Amino acid sequence: MIQNYESMGISREVADFSCMVLDELKGRFEEIDEMAEYNQLKVIKAMQDARVSAECFETSSGYGYNDRGRDTLEEVYANVFHTEAALVRPQITCGTHALAIALSANLRPGDELLSVSGKPYDTLEEVIGIRPSRGSLAEYGVTYAQVDLLFDGSFDFEGIQRAVNSRTKLVEIQRSKGYQTRPTLSVAQIGEAIAFVKSIRPDILCMVDNCYGEFVECAEPGEAGADMVVGSLIKNPGGGLAPAGGYIAGTMECVEQCAFRLTSPGLGREVGANFGVMQSFYQGLFLAPTVTASALKGAIFAANLYERLGFKVVPNGMEERHDIIQAIEFGSPGGLIAFCEGIQAAAPVDSYVKPEPWAMPGYDSDVIMAAGAFVQGSSIELSADGPLKPPYAAYFQGGLTWPHAKLGIMKSLQRLYEKGLVRIPAKGGR
Ligand SMILES: *Cc1c(COP(=O)(O)O)cnc(C)c1O
Repeated sequence: MIQNYESMGISREVADFSCMVLDELKGRFEEIDEMAEYNQLKVIKAMQDARVSAECFETSSGYGYNDRGRDTLEEVYANVFHTEAALVRPQITCGTHALAIALSANLRPGDELLSVSGKPYDTLEEVIGIRPSRGSLAEYGVTYAQVDLLFDGSFDFEGIQRAVNSRTKLVEIQRSKGYQTRPTLSVAQIGEAIAFVKSIRPDILCMVDNCYGEFVECAEPGEAGADMVVGSLIKNPGGGLAPAGGYIAGTMECVEQCAFRLTSPGLGREVGANFGVMQSFYQGLFLAPTVTASALKGAIFAANLYERLGFKVVPNGMEERHDIIQAIEFGSPGGLIAFCEGIQAAAPVDSYVKPEPWAMPGYDSDVIMAAGAFVQGSSIELSADGPLKPPYAAYFQGGLTWPHAKLGIMKSLQRLYEKGLVRIPAKGGR
């Protein structure tokens, strides 16, 4: 095996050190395998209960009336997320779009949207109108209020109590930390917040941005009382096979509202051709529990490896996981760049290109990104990015298979090692 890694450009020092770190993670990895097993059974049961058959993979075109594959898939998602209904479509272009549909479909002029998990994900700022933008909710007279999480990352229940008013129509909770350094919320915590909001006014809708959180725990936010659970198919639930798409799982009432917004008033869920993507949607969901487990193992390996080498990692090596994102602070541009070069060099696609920092629209500093993906922009595939500004943190996620995630992390360390940016302790040393 060591020889195999040598042929992939991994030195003895890096291989030995990786082995040592991994030896201590066996117990954690067993727990992850158990969770994948639990979620795998959940997905299979959901497919069996919905009587998925080979006809479900047939393509449809035009209006897409009576599309059995599409309708059955939506039933499968509703089963998996423990909700009454779901909307799962290639016409939902990404996670941001799914969230924008969920919000705009269920809010009306004069209503207020309340985020109780602090500032929402960057792309939602324009959806809501926190940053003025064409077509934002603000333009349609929907106001916005926000309650930040407390210092320890928990919900500010008193703050929520004060913020709810007679116009509060929808509460948004973001499960994953996104590009912030707060901890990710657990489904149990989310459930407490939902119960609290409903105790103030039961008619307030609770929507969870579930991006990156699917299949990381045994329960999903639908089981914790969410009216809508929303995410992207080029993250966890697409299992790496879905070429695009998003989902909204929720109450029949909320999902119907979303369908009329996605297509058209009067048409709703009845239309929307599937363009032949059904097999990849089903098969991707089938693979999603083990793919997510691979990504989780990669995140935990990276956290422990780099923590041992003296870098700050969020979450830390021991922490419980509620999403698949790992942040590693390198403290220098060189470290961040070397890390991304290593991830790129381990990819099955575009491994020969070298990522370079560049000025991306919407960012106030240069950004470096590493991804060699089968699906463009897919972040359930092994990928990393980070802004070239202090603390020079790399945000790392994904890995369709554990061996690939492992190779990527070893390659990243190899790059840092070759550039003299890290000292690897001798065997047994700390
Ligand atoms: C990725 C992400 C989004 C947006 O999804 P896109 O598919 O990139 O549009 C929204 N919220 C969170 C927490 C995310 O991680």
